[in-house]
Amino acid sequence: MDAIHIPNLAHHPDKRVTIDFKQLVKDLKSLTPVQGTVTVMHKGNYLEVQVQAKTIVTLTCDRCLQQYNHRLNCDADEIIWLKDSELIISELPLNQDLELDDMVENLPEDGNFDVEAWVYEQLCLALPQRKLCDGDCKGIDVPQASPEDLTDRRWAALSALKNQLPDLAD
Ligand SMILES: [Zn+2]
Repeated sequence: MDAIHIPNLAHHPDKRVTIDFKQLVKDLKSLTPVQGTVTVMHKGNYLEVQVQAKTIVTLTCDRCLQQYNHRLNCDADEIIWLKDSELIISELPLNQDLELDDMVENLPEDGNFDVEAWVYEQLCLALPQRKLCDGDCKGIDVPQASPEDLTDRRWAALSALKNQLPDLAD
């Protein structure tokens, strides 16, 4: 995905570009290429960007530390302020939930919009906050756990780590 030169987009007849893609996204550890569509619209003093994308990523379970595959679906849109343009609040597509402070993203209006970096960000935001290999994951199975180990799950996590590092285990 090439970066979009914002002034070119402003002069584009529709003032919008739609890109269908199926590729690996830089820095994203996905098992399969990311497949989706991204639309970048020039709305005068801001860009409106939308993406629908899907892929499969490998995550580490928070409970048992095993790796598992997760089907990642991303459906996001964002307003990116063009900071050199005049701020006219009434023209912004703000609703009650969207505060001006939420529009942390901004770009110079004669700059470039890095499509791939933006898509990468949206995919990261779509990752689950709580990573579980299975809703019923029982956590780490610690053989010969002493009663002290069982009093605190953090010790269980530590033991499992220790088992993975033979040099440290004695
Ligand atoms: Zn698990």
